[in-house]
Amino acid sequence: MGALSRKLYERACRSIPAGVNSPVRAFRSVGQTGPFFVERGEGAWLYDVEGNRYLDFVGSWGPLILGHNPPGLAEVLEQAIRRGTSYGAATEKEIELAELIIRMVPSIEMVRLVNSGTEATMSALRLARGFTGRDRIVKCEGCYHGHGDAFLVKAGSGGATFGVPDSAGVPREVSGLTINVPYNDLVALGEVFKNAGEQIAAVILEPVAGNMGVVAPLEGYLEGVRKITAKWGALLIFDEVITGFRLAPGGAQQRFGITPDLTCLGKIIGGGFPVGAFGGRREIMEKLAPLGPVYQAGTLSGNPVGVSAGLFMLRRLSQEPPYEYLESLSARLEQGIRGNLAALELELTANRAGSLLTLFFTKGPVVDFTSAKTSDTAAFGRYFHQMLSRGVFIAPSQYEAGFINAAMTVEDIDRTVEINREALKSSQP
Ligand SMILES: *Cc1c(COP(=O)(O)O)cnc(C)c1O
Repeated sequence: MGALSRKLYERACRSIPAGVNSPVRAFRSVGQTGPFFVERGEGAWLYDVEGNRYLDFVGSWGPLILGHNPPGLAEVLEQAIRRGTSYGAATEKEIELAELIIRMVPSIEMVRLVNSGTEATMSALRLARGFTGRDRIVKCEGCYHGHGDAFLVKAGSGGATFGVPDSAGVPREVSGLTINVPYNDLVALGEVFKNAGEQIAAVILEPVAGNMGVVAPLEGYLEGVRKITAKWGALLIFDEVITGFRLAPGGAQQRFGITPDLTCLGKIIGGGFPVGAFGGRREIMEKLAPLGPVYQAGTLSGNPVGVSAGLFMLRRLSQEPPYEYLESLSARLEQGIRGNLAALELELTANRAGSLLTLFFTKGPVVDFTSAKTSDTAAFGRYFHQMLSRGVFIAPSQYEAGFINAAMTVEDIDRTVEINREALKSSQP
Protein backbone atom coordinates (compact mmCIF):
# COMPACT_ATOMS: atom_id res chain seq x y z
CA MET A 1 0.00 0.00 0.00
CA GLY A 2 1.36 3.44 -0.94
CA ALA A 3 1.82 6.30 1.53
CA LEU A 4 -1.26 8.21 0.33
CA SER A 5 -3.53 5.17 0.58
CA ARG A 6 -2.12 4.39 4.02
CA LYS A 7 -2.90 7.89 5.20
CA LEU A 8 -6.44 7.74 3.84
CA TYR A 9 -6.92 4.33 5.41
CA GLU A 10 -5.86 5.58 8.84
CA ARG A 11 -8.19 8.54 8.49
CA ALA A 12 -11.04 6.33 7.23
CA CYS A 13 -10.68 3.99 10.20
CA ARG A 14 -11.42 6.83 12.60
CA SER A 15 -14.89 7.41 11.14
CA ILE A 16 -15.85 4.17 9.33
CA PRO A 17 -15.57 0.66 10.83
CA ALA A 18 -12.39 -0.84 9.30
CA GLY A 19 -12.36 2.15 6.96
CA VAL A 20 -14.73 0.57 4.44
CA ASN A 21 -18.44 0.46 3.68
CA SER A 22 -18.48 -3.24 2.78
CA PRO A 23 -16.27 -5.76 4.61
CA VAL A 24 -14.43 -7.51 1.77
CA ARG A 25 -13.03 -4.17 0.54
CA ALA A 26 -10.76 -4.06 3.57
CA PHE A 27 -8.31 -6.63 2.05
CA ARG A 28 -8.18 -8.44 5.41
CA SER A 29 -8.71 -11.89 3.92
CA VAL A 30 -5.45 -11.51 1.99
CA GLY A 31 -3.56 -10.50 5.11
CA GLN A 32 -3.25 -6.80 4.41
CA THR A 33 -4.23 -3.97 6.72
CA GLY A 34 -6.07 -1.63 4.42
CA PRO A 35 -6.80 -1.35 0.72
CA PHE A 36 -5.57 1.03 -1.96
CA PHE A 37 -7.81 4.04 -2.40
CA VAL A 38 -9.33 4.66 -5.81
CA GLU A 39 -8.88 7.89 -7.71
CA ARG A 40 -10.87 6.95 -10.83
CA GLY A 41 -11.94 4.20 -13.19
CA GLU A 42 -11.63 4.32 -16.95
CA GLY A 43 -12.58 1.49 -19.31
CA ALA A 44 -10.83 -1.66 -18.17
CA TRP A 45 -8.62 0.20 -15.70
CA LEU A 46 -8.77 1.37 -12.11
CA TYR A 47 -6.40 4.14 -10.91
CA ASP A 48 -5.38 4.55 -7.29
CA VAL A 49 -4.49 7.77 -5.49
CA GLU A 50 -0.76 7.07 -5.96
CA GLY A 51 -1.23 7.01 -9.74
CA ASN A 52 -0.87 3.23 -10.09
CA ARG A 53 -3.22 1.61 -12.55
CA TYR A 54 -4.72 -1.86 -12.36
CA LEU A 55 -6.47 -3.99 -14.94
CA ASP A 56 -9.76 -4.39 -13.10
CA PHE A 57 -11.14 -7.92 -12.73
CA VAL A 58 -13.32 -6.84 -9.79
CA GLY A 59 -15.46 -4.47 -11.84
CA SER A 60 -17.30 -3.16 -8.78
CA TRP A 61 -18.08 -6.83 -7.97
CA GLY A 62 -20.15 -7.41 -11.07
CA PRO A 63 -21.96 -4.35 -12.42
CA LEU A 64 -19.30 -3.15 -14.86
CA ILE A 65 -19.73 -5.60 -17.74
CA LEU A 66 -18.83 -2.76 -20.14
CA GLY A 67 -15.97 -1.46 -18.00
CA HIS A 68 -15.80 1.88 -16.20
CA ASN A 69 -17.73 4.81 -17.60
CA PRO A 70 -18.66 3.37 -21.01
CA PRO A 71 -18.91 5.97 -23.81
CA GLY A 72 -22.30 7.69 -23.82
CA LEU A 73 -23.28 6.95 -20.22
CA ALA A 74 -22.10 10.26 -18.71
CA GLU A 75 -24.20 12.25 -21.23
CA VAL A 76 -27.31 10.20 -20.46
CA LEU A 77 -26.77 10.73 -16.73
CA GLU A 78 -26.18 14.45 -17.09
CA GLN A 79 -29.49 14.83 -18.92
CA ALA A 80 -31.28 12.77 -16.27
CA ILE A 81 -29.81 14.70 -13.35
CA ARG A 82 -30.84 18.03 -14.85
CA ARG A 83 -34.49 16.91 -14.62
CA GLY A 84 -34.22 16.34 -10.87
CA THR A 85 -32.68 13.53 -8.90
CA SER A 86 -35.72 11.94 -7.24
CA TYR A 87 -39.49 12.36 -7.34
CA GLY A 88 -41.09 9.55 -5.36
CA ALA A 89 -43.68 9.53 -8.11
CA ALA A 90 -44.23 7.47 -11.25
CA THR A 91 -42.22 8.03 -14.45
CA GLU A 92 -42.34 6.68 -18.00
CA LYS A 93 -38.69 5.60 -17.75
CA GLU A 94 -39.61 3.04 -15.09
CA ILE A 95 -42.08 1.45 -17.54
CA GLU A 96 -39.40 1.39 -20.23
CA LEU A 97 -36.95 -0.35 -17.91
CA ALA A 98 -39.60 -2.82 -16.69
CA GLU A 99 -40.64 -3.62 -20.28
CA LEU A 100 -37.03 -4.13 -21.28
CA ILE A 101 -36.36 -6.45 -18.32
CA ILE A 102 -39.48 -8.45 -19.19
CA ARG A 103 -38.38 -8.71 -22.83
CA MET A 104 -34.87 -9.82 -21.87
CA VAL A 105 -35.41 -12.21 -18.94
CA PRO A 106 -37.52 -15.22 -20.04
CA SER A 107 -39.38 -15.98 -16.78
CA ILE A 108 -40.27 -12.40 -15.79
CA GLU A 109 -43.82 -11.30 -16.52
CA MET A 110 -43.92 -8.45 -13.98
CA VAL A 111 -41.14 -6.73 -12.09
CA ARG A 112 -40.54 -4.29 -9.22
CA LEU A 113 -37.47 -2.10 -8.97
CA VAL A 114 -35.57 -1.81 -5.68
CA ASN A 115 -32.22 -0.34 -4.65
CA SER A 116 -29.88 -3.29 -4.22
CA GLY A 117 -29.50 -7.02 -4.66
CA THR A 118 -30.09 -7.47 -0.94
CA GLU A 119 -33.43 -5.73 -1.18
CA ALA A 120 -34.37 -7.85 -4.19
CA THR A 121 -33.74 -11.15 -2.36
CA MET A 122 -35.40 -10.00 0.87
CA SER A 123 -38.48 -8.87 -1.05
CA ALA A 124 -38.62 -12.02 -3.19
CA LEU A 125 -38.43 -14.15 -0.05
CA ARG A 126 -41.29 -12.30 1.65
CA LEU A 127 -43.33 -12.58 -1.53
CA ALA A 128 -42.65 -16.32 -1.75
CA ARG A 129 -43.75 -16.74 1.86
CA GLY A 130 -46.83 -14.60 1.34
CA PHE A 131 -47.79 -16.42 -1.84
CA THR A 132 -47.34 -19.96 -0.50
CA GLY A 133 -48.39 -19.32 3.10
CA ARG A 134 -45.25 -21.24 4.20
CA ASP A 135 -42.32 -20.04 6.32
CA ARG A 136 -39.30 -22.22 5.69
CA ILE A 137 -36.78 -21.64 2.93
CA VAL A 138 -33.97 -23.68 1.46
CA LYS A 139 -30.70 -22.18 0.32
CA CYS A 140 -27.37 -23.64 -0.71
CA GLU A 141 -24.26 -23.58 1.41
CA GLY A 142 -21.78 -21.11 -0.06
CA CYS A 143 -24.38 -19.16 -2.05
CA TYR A 144 -24.70 -15.48 -1.10
CA HIS A 145 -27.99 -13.64 -1.32
CA GLY A 146 -27.13 -10.32 0.25
CA HIS A 147 -27.09 -9.60 3.96
CA GLY A 148 -30.72 -10.21 4.91
CA ASP A 149 -31.18 -12.15 8.16
CA ALA A 150 -32.71 -15.21 6.52
CA PHE A 151 -29.74 -15.70 4.19
CA LEU A 152 -26.86 -15.35 6.67
CA VAL A 153 -26.98 -19.00 7.58
CA LYS A 154 -24.89 -21.96 6.57
CA ALA A 155 -25.39 -25.61 7.44
CA GLY A 156 -24.02 -26.99 10.68
CA SER A 157 -21.81 -30.05 10.38
CA GLY A 158 -23.87 -32.95 9.19
CA GLY A 159 -25.19 -31.27 6.09
CA ALA A 160 -28.84 -30.42 5.77
CA THR A 161 -29.52 -29.41 9.33
CA PHE A 162 -31.63 -26.52 10.51
CA GLY A 163 -29.89 -23.17 10.45
CA VAL A 164 -27.45 -21.63 12.86
CA PRO A 165 -26.77 -17.93 12.24
CA ASP A 166 -23.43 -16.87 10.69
CA SER A 167 -23.68 -13.35 12.04
CA ALA A 168 -24.28 -11.96 15.50
CA GLY A 169 -27.58 -10.16 15.58
CA VAL A 170 -29.55 -12.75 13.62
CA PRO A 171 -32.15 -14.28 15.97
CA ARG A 172 -32.31 -18.07 16.02
CA GLU A 173 -36.05 -17.78 15.50
CA VAL A 174 -35.29 -16.28 12.10
CA SER A 175 -32.29 -18.37 11.07
CA GLY A 176 -34.08 -21.53 12.21
CA LEU A 177 -36.43 -21.17 9.27
CA THR A 178 -33.54 -21.45 6.81
CA ILE A 179 -32.44 -24.91 5.70
CA ASN A 180 -29.07 -25.33 3.98
CA VAL A 181 -28.18 -27.96 1.44
CA PRO A 182 -24.92 -28.46 -0.45
CA TYR A 183 -24.89 -26.91 -3.93
CA ASN A 184 -25.13 -29.41 -6.78
CA ASP A 185 -26.63 -32.07 -4.49
CA LEU A 186 -30.11 -33.23 -5.54
CA VAL A 187 -30.14 -36.12 -3.09
CA ALA A 188 -29.78 -33.76 -0.11
CA LEU A 189 -32.46 -31.47 -1.53
CA GLY A 190 -34.81 -34.41 -2.04
CA GLU A 191 -34.29 -35.48 1.58
CA VAL A 192 -35.08 -32.00 2.88
CA PHE A 193 -38.32 -31.95 0.94
CA LYS A 194 -39.23 -35.43 2.10
CA ASN A 195 -38.86 -34.26 5.71
CA ALA A 196 -40.40 -30.80 5.50
CA GLY A 197 -41.66 -30.27 1.93
CA GLU A 198 -45.07 -28.91 2.88
CA GLN A 199 -43.50 -26.18 5.03
CA ILE A 200 -41.06 -24.90 2.42
CA ALA A 201 -41.97 -21.65 0.69
CA ALA A 202 -39.02 -21.52 -1.69
CA VAL A 203 -35.63 -22.72 -2.76
CA ILE A 204 -33.28 -19.85 -3.54
CA LEU A 205 -29.98 -20.34 -5.32
CA GLU A 206 -27.49 -18.76 -7.68
CA PRO A 207 -27.95 -20.66 -10.96
CA VAL A 208 -24.19 -20.33 -11.39
CA ALA A 209 -22.65 -19.77 -7.98
CA GLY A 210 -20.32 -16.77 -7.88
CA ASN A 211 -19.86 -16.18 -4.17
CA MET A 212 -17.88 -19.28 -3.19
CA GLY A 213 -15.75 -18.61 -6.23
CA VAL A 214 -17.30 -19.68 -9.53
CA VAL A 215 -19.11 -23.00 -9.36
CA ALA A 216 -21.30 -24.00 -12.29
CA PRO A 217 -24.32 -26.27 -11.89
CA LEU A 218 -23.63 -29.90 -12.78
CA GLU A 219 -25.52 -31.43 -15.70
CA GLY A 220 -29.15 -31.89 -14.66
CA TYR A 221 -28.88 -30.06 -11.33
CA LEU A 222 -31.04 -27.03 -12.12
CA GLU A 223 -33.58 -29.24 -13.91
CA GLY A 224 -33.73 -31.44 -10.82
CA VAL A 225 -34.26 -28.46 -8.49
CA ARG A 226 -37.03 -27.21 -10.77
CA LYS A 227 -38.72 -30.63 -10.69
CA ILE A 228 -38.54 -31.04 -6.89
CA THR A 229 -39.82 -27.53 -6.14
CA ALA A 230 -42.68 -27.88 -8.62
CA LYS A 231 -43.66 -31.25 -7.14
CA TRP A 232 -43.92 -29.82 -3.61
CA GLY A 233 -45.49 -26.49 -4.56
CA ALA A 234 -42.48 -24.49 -3.40
CA LEU A 235 -41.27 -21.55 -5.48
CA LEU A 236 -37.91 -21.60 -7.22
CA ILE A 237 -36.08 -18.29 -6.83
CA PHE A 238 -33.07 -17.69 -9.05
CA ASP A 239 -30.73 -15.13 -7.56
CA GLU A 240 -29.32 -13.73 -10.79
CA VAL A 241 -27.78 -10.65 -9.19
CA ILE A 242 -24.43 -11.67 -10.73
CA THR A 243 -25.53 -13.86 -13.64
CA GLY A 244 -28.38 -11.65 -14.89
CA PHE A 245 -27.47 -9.86 -18.15
CA ARG A 246 -23.99 -11.42 -17.88
CA LEU A 247 -24.16 -15.10 -18.83
CA ALA A 248 -26.65 -14.21 -21.57
CA PRO A 249 -28.96 -11.23 -22.23
CA GLY A 250 -31.59 -13.18 -20.25
CA GLY A 251 -29.16 -14.47 -17.63
CA ALA A 252 -28.46 -18.04 -16.55
CA GLN A 253 -32.12 -19.05 -16.94
CA GLN A 254 -31.84 -18.32 -20.65
CA ARG A 255 -28.46 -20.01 -20.94
CA PHE A 256 -29.66 -23.20 -19.24
CA GLY A 257 -33.32 -23.09 -20.34
CA ILE A 258 -34.77 -23.31 -16.82
CA THR A 259 -37.80 -21.24 -15.77
CA PRO A 260 -37.75 -20.08 -12.13
CA ASP A 261 -40.87 -18.65 -10.47
CA LEU A 262 -39.08 -15.53 -9.22
CA THR A 263 -35.80 -13.89 -10.23
CA CYS A 264 -33.62 -11.42 -8.30
CA LEU A 265 -31.54 -8.91 -10.22
CA GLY A 266 -28.93 -6.34 -9.24
CA LYS A 267 -25.42 -5.24 -10.18
CA ILE A 268 -25.46 -4.90 -14.02
CA ILE A 269 -29.09 -3.73 -13.99
CA GLY A 270 -28.09 -0.37 -12.47
CA GLY A 271 -25.13 0.40 -14.71
CA GLY A 272 -23.09 1.19 -11.59
CA PHE A 273 -25.96 2.81 -9.67
CA PRO A 274 -27.82 1.25 -6.73
CA VAL A 275 -30.62 -0.54 -8.58
CA GLY A 276 -32.04 -4.00 -8.04
CA ALA A 277 -35.19 -5.75 -9.16
CA PHE A 278 -37.27 -8.83 -8.52
CA GLY A 279 -39.82 -10.27 -10.85
CA GLY A 280 -41.55 -13.37 -12.06
CA ARG A 281 -44.94 -14.89 -12.72
CA ARG A 282 -47.81 -12.45 -12.87
CA GLU A 283 -50.04 -14.31 -10.37
CA ILE A 284 -47.21 -14.17 -7.81
CA MET A 285 -46.19 -10.56 -8.45
CA GLU A 286 -49.83 -9.45 -8.12
CA LYS A 287 -49.70 -10.41 -4.46
CA LEU A 288 -47.61 -7.27 -3.84
CA ALA A 289 -49.11 -4.19 -2.18
CA PRO A 290 -51.23 -2.34 -3.12
CA LEU A 291 -52.73 -5.14 -5.28
CA GLY A 292 -52.16 -7.85 -2.69
CA PRO A 293 -51.26 -8.48 0.94
CA VAL A 294 -47.44 -8.63 0.68
CA TYR A 295 -45.93 -5.30 1.69
CA GLN A 296 -42.87 -3.91 -0.10
CA ALA A 297 -41.87 -0.31 -0.75
CA GLY A 298 -38.96 2.11 -1.31
CA THR A 299 -38.48 5.89 -1.17
CA LEU A 300 -35.82 5.81 -3.88
CA SER A 301 -37.06 2.74 -5.79
CA GLY A 302 -37.22 3.55 -9.50
CA ASN A 303 -34.97 6.55 -8.95
CA PRO A 304 -34.78 8.45 -12.26
CA VAL A 305 -30.98 8.65 -12.36
CA GLY A 306 -30.49 4.96 -11.52
CA VAL A 307 -33.21 3.98 -13.98
CA SER A 308 -31.52 6.06 -16.71
CA ALA A 309 -28.23 4.28 -16.06
CA GLY A 310 -30.00 0.92 -16.10
CA LEU A 311 -31.81 1.71 -19.35
CA PHE A 312 -28.53 2.77 -20.92
CA MET A 313 -26.92 -0.48 -19.83
CA LEU A 314 -29.66 -2.90 -20.84
CA ARG A 315 -30.28 -1.16 -24.17
CA ARG A 316 -26.58 -1.33 -24.97
CA LEU A 317 -26.44 -5.00 -24.00
CA SER A 318 -29.41 -5.87 -26.22
CA GLN A 319 -28.46 -3.65 -29.18
CA GLU A 320 -24.71 -4.35 -29.26
CA PRO A 321 -24.42 -7.65 -27.40
CA PRO A 322 -20.87 -8.11 -26.08
CA TYR A 323 -21.41 -11.76 -25.16
CA GLU A 324 -19.44 -13.40 -27.98
CA TYR A 325 -16.56 -11.03 -27.46
CA LEU A 326 -16.62 -11.65 -23.70
CA GLU A 327 -16.69 -15.41 -24.29
CA SER A 328 -13.64 -15.24 -26.56
CA LEU A 329 -11.68 -13.09 -24.08
CA SER A 330 -12.68 -15.31 -21.17
CA ALA A 331 -11.87 -18.56 -22.96
CA ARG A 332 -8.49 -17.11 -23.93
CA LEU A 333 -7.78 -16.20 -20.31
CA GLU A 334 -8.87 -19.64 -19.09
CA GLN A 335 -6.68 -21.41 -21.67
CA GLY A 336 -3.74 -19.19 -20.81
CA ILE A 337 -4.08 -19.93 -17.10
CA ARG A 338 -4.42 -23.67 -17.77
CA GLY A 339 -1.28 -23.49 -19.91
CA ASN A 340 0.58 -21.80 -17.07
CA LEU A 341 -0.60 -24.40 -14.56
CA ALA A 342 0.59 -27.20 -16.84
CA ALA A 343 3.96 -25.51 -17.50
CA LEU A 344 4.55 -24.95 -13.78
CA GLU A 345 3.19 -28.40 -12.87
CA LEU A 346 0.67 -26.90 -10.47
CA GLU A 347 -2.51 -28.78 -9.66
CA LEU A 348 -4.99 -25.96 -9.18
CA THR A 349 -8.59 -25.67 -10.34
CA ALA A 350 -9.79 -23.06 -12.83
CA ASN A 351 -13.61 -22.81 -12.91
CA ARG A 352 -15.21 -20.64 -15.56
CA ALA A 353 -18.74 -19.83 -16.66
CA GLY A 354 -18.89 -17.20 -19.41
CA SER A 355 -17.12 -14.05 -18.21
CA LEU A 356 -16.85 -15.33 -14.62
CA LEU A 357 -13.65 -17.09 -13.58
CA THR A 358 -12.03 -18.31 -10.36
CA LEU A 359 -8.65 -19.93 -9.88
CA PHE A 360 -9.01 -22.12 -6.78
CA PHE A 361 -5.84 -23.02 -4.91
CA THR A 362 -6.88 -26.64 -4.60
CA LYS A 363 -6.59 -29.73 -6.72
CA GLY A 364 -10.36 -29.87 -7.03
CA PRO A 365 -12.75 -30.49 -8.61
CA VAL A 366 -14.70 -27.66 -6.96
CA VAL A 367 -18.44 -28.35 -7.19
CA ASP A 368 -19.75 -27.04 -3.86
CA PHE A 369 -18.75 -25.10 -0.75
CA THR A 370 -17.06 -28.07 0.92
CA SER A 371 -14.74 -28.63 -2.03
CA ALA A 372 -14.19 -24.86 -2.47
CA LYS A 373 -13.04 -24.69 1.15
CA THR A 374 -10.21 -27.14 0.52
CA SER A 375 -8.44 -24.15 -1.11
CA ASP A 376 -5.15 -22.97 0.34
CA THR A 377 -6.18 -19.41 1.17
CA ALA A 378 -2.68 -18.45 2.33
CA ALA A 379 -1.35 -19.37 -1.12
CA PHE A 380 -4.22 -17.39 -2.66
CA GLY A 381 -3.24 -14.40 -0.53
CA ARG A 382 0.34 -14.52 -1.79
CA TYR A 383 -0.92 -14.86 -5.38
CA PHE A 384 -3.28 -11.88 -4.93
CA HIS A 385 -0.41 -9.61 -3.87
CA GLN A 386 1.81 -10.84 -6.72
CA MET A 387 -0.97 -10.02 -9.20
CA LEU A 388 -1.70 -6.64 -7.64
CA SER A 389 1.94 -5.55 -7.57
CA ARG A 390 2.08 -6.34 -11.31
CA GLY A 391 -1.00 -4.21 -12.04
CA VAL A 392 -3.83 -6.78 -12.03
CA PHE A 393 -6.64 -6.31 -9.53
CA ILE A 394 -8.57 -9.47 -8.65
CA ALA A 395 -10.96 -9.80 -5.72
CA PRO A 396 -9.07 -9.88 -2.41
CA SER A 397 -10.62 -13.24 -1.47
CA GLN A 398 -10.43 -16.80 -2.77
CA TYR A 399 -14.22 -17.10 -2.63
CA GLU A 400 -15.14 -14.56 -5.28
CA ALA A 401 -15.52 -14.46 -9.03
CA GLY A 402 -13.17 -12.70 -11.42
CA PHE A 403 -15.16 -10.53 -13.83
CA ILE A 404 -14.03 -10.06 -17.43
CA ASN A 405 -15.45 -6.91 -19.03
CA ALA A 406 -15.95 -5.80 -22.61
CA ALA A 407 -13.57 -2.83 -22.30
CA MET A 408 -10.71 -5.34 -22.03
CA THR A 409 -8.67 -6.17 -25.12
CA VAL A 410 -6.95 -9.33 -26.33
CA GLU A 411 -3.66 -7.64 -25.39
CA ASP A 412 -4.95 -7.05 -21.85
CA ILE A 413 -5.82 -10.73 -21.57
CA ASP A 414 -2.48 -11.90 -22.95
CA ARG A 415 -0.62 -9.61 -20.57
CA THR A 416 -2.74 -10.96 -17.70
CA VAL A 417 -1.79 -14.52 -18.67
CA GLU A 418 1.92 -13.55 -18.51
CA ILE A 419 1.41 -11.86 -15.16
CA ASN A 420 -0.50 -14.90 -13.92
CA ARG A 421 2.50 -17.09 -14.77
CA GLU A 422 4.95 -14.78 -12.97
CA ALA A 423 2.61 -14.45 -9.99
CA LEU A 424 2.10 -18.20 -9.69
CA LYS A 425 5.84 -18.73 -9.86
CA SER A 426 6.62 -16.05 -7.28
CA SER A 427 3.89 -17.08 -4.87
CA GLN A 428 5.15 -20.63 -4.37
CA PRO A 429 6.27 -21.05 -0.75
C1 LIG B 1 -23.96 -9.10 -4.69
C2 LIG B 1 -25.00 -10.12 -4.54
C3 LIG B 1 -26.16 -9.89 -3.79
C4 LIG B 1 -26.36 -8.66 -2.96
O1 LIG B 1 -26.45 -7.51 -3.75
P1 LIG B 1 -26.14 -6.09 -3.05
O2 LIG B 1 -26.44 -5.12 -4.14
O3 LIG B 1 -24.71 -6.14 -2.65
O4 LIG B 1 -27.05 -5.95 -1.91
C5 LIG B 1 -27.14 -10.86 -3.78
N1 LIG B 1 -27.00 -12.00 -4.47
C6 LIG B 1 -25.89 -12.25 -5.20
C7 LIG B 1 -25.80 -13.52 -5.97
C8 LIG B 1 -24.84 -11.34 -5.23
O5 LIG B 1 -23.73 -11.62 -5.90
